[in-house]
Amino acid sequence: MVNDTILETQGLTKEFRGFVAVKGVNLRVRRGTIHALIGPNGAGKTTCFNLLTRFLPSSRGSISFKGQDITRARPADVARLGMVRSFQISATFPHLSVLENVRVALQRERGASFDFWRSEQVLSTYDARASELLDAVGLGAHAHLPAVELSYGRKRALEIATTLALDPELLLLDEPTAGMGHEDVERIAALIQQVAANRTVLMVEHNLSVVANLCHTITVLARGEILAEGDYATVSKNPDVVQAYMGA
Ligand code: ADP
Repeated sequence: MVNDTILETQGLTKEFRGFVAVKGVNLRVRRGTIHALIGPNGAGKTTCFNLLTRFLPSSRGSISFKGQDITRARPADVARLGMVRSFQISATFPHLSVLENVRVALQRERGASFDFWRSEQVLSTYDARASELLDAVGLGAHAHLPAVELSYGRKRALEIATTLALDPELLLLDEPTAGMGHEDVERIAALIQQVAANRTVLMVEHNLSVVANLCHTITVLARGEILAEGDYATVSKNPDVVQAYMGA
């Protein structure tokens, strides 16, 4: 394996009772890049994410992360190694404040058992780092609002902040801009770019202008197989890709 590769799959395959949802996928994600997984509905993107994070066992093939074989690893071990999917920890607590949500994430990351009733004094030891993370995602001014009162776009930013509390090397984002208005899309896109300054990001994304603006490499899946790969200019001109989207 080339050593700038952070994640690599060989022949990754998932069958659901004879239906092949992911078929012989050889994916290579380079360290430090923003890599998109796109494709029409039913292409196998979510299944791929579930296989990579080991939420689902694969039927065949191998997965290597940072040079380690994780084909049969437990999801918690994958996260511990540094591959974290945003919703794994996001589950925001709506009635806790934005800051408290990040404190809880930090407390978990440090291995402390999750406990709402720990003294304020103990929890406040996480305040400095929590504030840093909130500033990083542009939520510094909203730290004391209950999470439930955030706009949808800001809730997604909070999810990213809680995920960053785990200090992932590879961050998996599942449709980070889904359901957002233009302003929130811009804000999240800027955040992803900033987060990617010192990490690798693999994202499933439907918004092609986000993909075009952010992603260095795009893997197009269709019917469980890789149809095309490359930068946006290359894949968007590929007649097979155009056909897969038109025919979807
Ligand atoms: P995408 O995320 O690209 O829309 P999915 O990975 O969700 O695609 O699904 C790929 C295919 O696998 C679809 O045809 C879907 O119906 C099928 N599929 C996904 N999960 C299951 C499952 N648990 N059991 C059976 N079929 C599934």
